[in-house]
This record gives sequence, structure tokens and C-alpha cells, in this order.
Amino acid sequence: MSFQAHEALCCPLDGLTLDLQSGVLACPQGHSFDVARQGYVNLLLAQEKRSRDPGDSKAMITARRNFLNAGYYAQLAAELARVAAAAGSGLSTVVDAGCGEGYYDAHLLEAVPDLADNFVGFDISKWAVQAAAPRVPATWLVASNRQIPLRDASADMLLSLFGFPELAEFGRVLKSGGLLLIAEAGTEHLLELRRLIYPQLTAKADDAKDSYAAAGFQLQQESRVTYTTAELPQERIAELLLMTPHLYRASAEGKARVAALQRLVVTIDVRFRLYSSAPFAV
Ligand SMILES: [Zn+2]
Repeated sequence: MSFQAHEALCCPLDGLTLDLQSGVLACPQGHSFDVARQGYVNLLLAQEKRSRDPGDSKAMITARRNFLNAGYYAQLAAELARVAAAAGSGLSTVVDAGCGEGYYDAHLLEAVPDLADNFVGFDISKWAVQAAAPRVPATWLVASNRQIPLRDASADMLLSLFGFPELAEFGRVLKSGGLLLIAEAGTEHLLELRRLIYPQLTAKADDAKDSYAAAGFQLQQESRVTYTTAELPQERIAELLLMTPHLYRASAEGKARVAALQRLVVTIDVRFRLYSSAPFAV
């Protein structure tokens, strides 16, 4: 697999420019990072890891890949491409901060090929990046949202899809007036699954918007995609549970109820919000 080295890549140890030299990313101070055979580079420093194998496990990534490839979230991929395409011509460097196994990126770059030249995708899970890198040529990295290995003011657009936004770091990496596209589960998302696994559903407080404004992001537009899926067979139900955070919070009884299902229709409810970083934010 070939690795595309984006020109804004910087060394996680000292912030100097990383260049691709005979299959290795190296900085002028002599730090070097190998290109893995799947076509990505691991720039996650040991001290940034909060566990030995951070992020989604191999089993979660496999489940997500199988589920997403079955097409149940295709309307979400289409909405992402629509918003990104409408956001503009002139988008050069687009960065997916938390790319998972690359489903959304592969669809986005197929729908909007102009974005493919300078696309960067990273995830803290090496299993996710190993799955994403072979899907589409781009700069694929194992890295953390807490320390994005890109120069200040180098990205035209950041994507944070069902991820963990680090707004201060996003603000650093985005160009002045750059765009941040967030996708988040809405209140009805996977309601049928959640009803089965939690004794009581608690409504989630929507305090997100204040934190974006405080971090210097201005809301440009919002959209919401809601629909119900076709019937999921047992295998897909198990994958859906494994790929969401709900598995870890579910009681044993809840998991047993889900495991006993033969068929399930679920509601999809996802909100997309497009922000711009304030033109003169520090
Ligand atoms: Zn270095």
C-alpha cells in the first residue's frame, strides 16, 4: 500500500516537519516513524496512550465494518457528502479526526473526489486505521485528538463523526475561518436497542452548543437525518451492539434480551452541525 505524506505533517516529539524518505517519515532532528505495510504511520506517542491498545478493539472494528458495509447507515454517508460538498469549493486539506474504519471517508471521497488530494484520516485505534488505509489513498495515521500531528492553521475542514471533539486542538489545526463538521447521535438514535438494554432511559442534556461557542466556533448550519432501518437479522444486531458504546453500559439482563432477538428495526437519528472557526480566534 502506498502512503501519501501530507505536507503539514509534523513530528509528535518536537513539531518539526515530517518528510517521507525511503519509506520512513523523518524530521530534521532525526526522529523517524515507519510506514506500516497497510499504508499508514503510527504517530501516537507512548505517553499519549492511556492503555496498551487504545481506542476501539479489533473485534469492535470488525463488527462496525461488517455492519456499515451492509448499508444501514448509507443515508448518513450521503448527508455527510452533501454537507461537505456544499461547504465549498476551495477546501483543500480535509481531516477526519477519529476516522474509525474509514466507511464515511471512503464514501465521501467517492462522492466528492476533489477532496481526495490532501485528505488526512486518523484514529487512536490502530485496528481502525489498518482497516481504513487500504480503502482509499490518503494520509492515514494512528494519532490522538489531544495531539494532532499537523501544523497550526493547516486544515480547511475537520470532521468529527461520532467522535470525541477536542475543541482547543481543533482550533489550533484549523485555518482561520476553517470548518468543523460534527455528527452526533440524536435523542431517538437506536432507541429500540437502548430500550432493550437499559432499565431506564435518561434524556441526554444538550449542553454541547455552549462549549463550541466558548471555543470560538460559530454555527453555520444544522441538519438532522432520521429514518428507520430495514429489519436487522440477528448477526447485524450483535454487530450493532458491539460497535456502539452501549455494550459496555448494558446490564447482563439487557444483553441477554438483545441476544434473544431474531429481528429488530431501529431508528436512526443523527444531527450534523457545521461550524466555522472564528476568523481572528487565537
Ligand atoms: Zn522530531
